[in-house]
Amino acid sequence: MPGKNSNVRRGAQGAPLFFDRAEGARYWDLEGKDYIDYVAGMGPAIWGHSNKEYLDTVKSQLEKVFSLGSTVAQQVLEVELAEKIVQHVPCAEWVRLGISGSEAVQLALRVARAYSSRPYVLRFENHYHGWIDNVHGGRAPASIETFPHPLQSETDTGGLAPGVRDQSLMIRWNDTDALEAVLDRYADQIAVVLMEAVMLNYGCCPPRPGYLEAARKLCDKYDVLLCFDEVFTGFRLGLGGAQAEFGVTPDLAVFAKAMAGGLPLSAVAGNAEILEVLRSDEVLVGGTFNSFPLAVAAAVTNIEMLARNDGAFYRRIDDRQRQLIDGIREVGRQHGHAVFLQGPRGVFHLNFLDKETAYTPADLACADWAKLVRFNELLLRERILIGGGSRFVITDGLTQEDIDETLRRIDKAMRDL
Ligand code: PLP
Repeated sequence: MPGKNSNVRRGAQGAPLFFDRAEGARYWDLEGKDYIDYVAGMGPAIWGHSNKEYLDTVKSQLEKVFSLGSTVAQQVLEVELAEKIVQHVPCAEWVRLGISGSEAVQLALRVARAYSSRPYVLRFENHYHGWIDNVHGGRAPASIETFPHPLQSETDTGGLAPGVRDQSLMIRWNDTDALEAVLDRYADQIAVVLMEAVMLNYGCCPPRPGYLEAARKLCDKYDVLLCFDEVFTGFRLGLGGAQAEFGVTPDLAVFAKAMAGGLPLSAVAGNAEILEVLRSDEVLVGGTFNSFPLAVAAAVTNIEMLARNDGAFYRRIDDRQRQLIDGIREVGRQHGHAVFLQGPRGVFHLNFLDKETAYTPADLACADWAKLVRFNELLLRERILIGGGSRFVITDGLTQEDIDETLRRIDKAMRDL
């Protein structure tokens, strides 16, 4: 194998870890040592690893039908899932199911370009929308005068197809003036403004108060579509995603990760007039595994479970997150470390700096990144698994014992830091 099966799983130096068992919020390696899981499969496994109701659904669907993809046949469950998404997600009038987040982003972009008859996507520095060429990386240029070819000189991977970096304009996020300036100048060439509504892939930076509202207003003013990439935020911040939490409704939104509770499944939801380009076949999008039955059944059950008892799941997540954040801050204080922790419901970023909130990567520039690298090594030594970008994902598998044990292990890591 040419390394691990994803370049973003490079992780720490040394021999890779191998696991063959998971339960609740713990993994066991081949030597029988337990690791506490704050990765959750990069976000999807929102119930942890052994929720009985979730697993029973998957097992029973496996025995009914696990593969379909016929040109004529579908399952009633696909309709049920679409109805649930429409019920909970504010922008959702219609829903198209896919398999991965990366692919669903591509679908949303193709739809937006076809609907608007405009070529470019406006993206934001440090936002992640999957690994496909046209959304991969990039830096905002110093001046928007260089548009529409701002990204040519910046690559962080070899092998990109010619011209793909010219398909986006890129600016910094959380800057209303920059957004207005670029829309004022280039709106007639921009098909869609694509953003993570909370920057979960960099420091879990929240939108500045009023920024999402301003983005919505500007997109309306300049008649440009707004798409929220809710691959990470969807069903994690709440049933309606970031758009419901912040009360700002985009025209299109992309979901994946937590939507199916652990199995691969994605969706593009949005305004029916826009998604009409799919119904009318003006835009063609295929995919062998689109609406994969096992994952669709899992997603229906997942969303039912999330909605149960007036969202009791989310209250449990809030409680665990609060305990962890308060506990880690206190342990850090006892050992003389200024620990920075921020994130919306269900996920948070840890760093070392003395600041209340970081809205942008520039706000995090003064963090002690070398200390963070060392701390992350110590976390691994203490058998705590966290996600890339020093990100903790909270799952329902996490017990009180797991939280207490996490804080004990973090205490040792902070002591040796
Ligand atoms: N968009 C966001 C916001 C993501 O966080 C990710 C994955 O981390 C993607 C898109 C890509 O999704 P996938 O890895 O399922 O292709």
